[in-house]
Amino acid sequence: MAKKILIIGGVAGGATAAARLRRLDETADITVLERGPYVSFANCGLPYFLSGDIKKRSQLLLQTPEGFWSRYRVDVKTQTEAVEIRPTEKVVKARGPEGDVEYSYDALILTQGSNPIVPPLPGVNQEQVFKLWTIPDMDRIQKFLTEKAPATAVIAGGGFIGLEMAEAFHHRGIKTTVVELAPQIMATMDKEFAAAVQKQLEADGVAVKTGVGLASIGPKTVQLSDGSELAADLVLLSVGVRSELTLAKAAGLALGAAGGLQVDEFLRTSDPNIWAAGDMIETVNLISGKKARIPLAGPANRQGRLAATNIASTYLPGVAARRYRGAFGSSVVKIFDTTAASTGLTEKAAREAGLSVGTSTVHKGHHAGYYPGAEILSLKLVWEKPSGRLLGAQAFGKQGVEKRIDALAVALLGKLTVQDLAEADFAYAPPYSSANDPINMAAFSAQNALEGVCALTAPDQLLARPLTKDEILLDVRTLGEHAKGHAAGALHIPLDELRDNLAQVPAKKVHVYCKDGFQGYLAVRILKQNGIDADNIAGGWTSMVRCGWEETK
Ligand code: FAD
Repeated sequence: MAKKILIIGGVAGGATAAARLRRLDETADITVLERGPYVSFANCGLPYFLSGDIKKRSQLLLQTPEGFWSRYRVDVKTQTEAVEIRPTEKVVKARGPEGDVEYSYDALILTQGSNPIVPPLPGVNQEQVFKLWTIPDMDRIQKFLTEKAPATAVIAGGGFIGLEMAEAFHHRGIKTTVVELAPQIMATMDKEFAAAVQKQLEADGVAVKTGVGLASIGPKTVQLSDGSELAADLVLLSVGVRSELTLAKAAGLALGAAGGLQVDEFLRTSDPNIWAAGDMIETVNLISGKKARIPLAGPANRQGRLAATNIASTYLPGVAARRYRGAFGSSVVKIFDTTAASTGLTEKAAREAGLSVGTSTVHKGHHAGYYPGAEILSLKLVWEKPSGRLLGAQAFGKQGVEKRIDALAVALLGKLTVQDLAEADFAYAPPYSSANDPINMAAFSAQNALEGVCALTAPDQLLARPLTKDEILLDVRTLGEHAKGHAAGALHIPLDELRDNLAQVPAKKVHVYCKDGFQGYLAVRILKQNGIDADNIAGGWTSMVRCGWEETK
């Protein structure tokens, strides 16, 4: 008897699961129920259509029900909403163009995704207030842009969709402000990296307000929680997503502690005939080991494939069940002509997870400085003390950002240490990298710290407390660099004059900083070998300023 497989949700996880099942089992009877008008569309491409980078709307429609049928013999029913799951009968009731229809199944896959949160603000239901999650959402925004030609926009939420849309609106000549309730945008990055992204947005003409939320929305303005007001012909809400759990809850499926649907390591829900994948489930953060919701396209696609494999393994000889290990939340976002990317835990998240954390940061050319076009790449490694196990990484710059983060995502998967990364043999030629890649350099710095060669201090940790009377800051930059701005009260001795001026350095704990961290390391080595207790501020003045260190002139 052909197995009846039913899938609710036909986009990232659902479409992948359907195609994988057909590749494994030519005889299965596979049906996909999708409540929207499109199956398998490119959610992640929506901002780029609105920006004008993607010219044709049709490029976002990756499959049609007809295409799915002819290629995979999968019966896709669009505009058909599953309204009830009856697990004991193994039946799903759906409502669509054919009226109410009941579908029986041998195995059911839930890939219903998530829904954008719409805060219950006064004025939130007006025609100029949007969310962006589906093609119809995108069409509504496009129509409004074309017909109403808004001059100003406010985006609530400084996550990656908010920032992609800020750029899109800016490209369309709209004066745009991003309003973020948290103290920083980009929750996936530590504050100095978020600050670099914010500075870039501002340099490109997008205003950013942090630590303040929307209080209400008027016809042409928004009122903020600090009492101020912004002009807003258009408002986009992009403040996060919630798992779509209505059906699962009503069916009595177990929910998890992180706000998603609970699944086991084979992506099976608490009902033995129901599997689930994508934004709606909670999984494990592979680094912290904690349950987490990681609503991203990569995990959704791979989970869809795995759920299909595991269903096939229950009845097809030769198909083995596979465990889903979890995810790191690797992500990347384009901010005008720069890129910000991260993988694993931030320093903040690692500390909150109770880990003993070290960090090392480099600001270094993305390729050899003598080859034309080198751009500064900021790279931070977060690692565990004393093992050196890599916990996460962040990068920001114009070139080579995602290449480093992807390499580091694989390093996380392989449970590598900074000692391993110090030895990693990366492909090198001057147009692409340096003989010591920025990853090697950041790993050397971590290794030096772990081995006591040069201790590192995280700039935000130092900034968070007043210096004691037994500590000083030492600035070893050039006279010109120092004159442009420095930390109040810092002793200034340029690196090349340090050996001749050691007598000026008081017998205290010395926190050294240079421009980007490297010369600080050289200074620490000189000081230590002359009996002075010193450490290096990771990432130097560049990171200190991004952390909020006040510049004195
Ligand atoms: P979805 O792809 O959302 O599919 C769920 C489907 O289930 C929906 O189409 C919904 O209509 C359907 N459904 C729900 N309930 C029912 C029901 N009762 N009956 C029938 N159908 C139902 N991720 C990245 O990793 N990188 C990016 O750059 C990125 N950019 C994004 C940009 C935008 C604008 C958006 C909206 C998302 C972006 N994402 C990105 C997130 C990514 O798209 C999601 O993580 C991914 O699509 C989740 O896949 P899913 O299968 O779980 O859910």
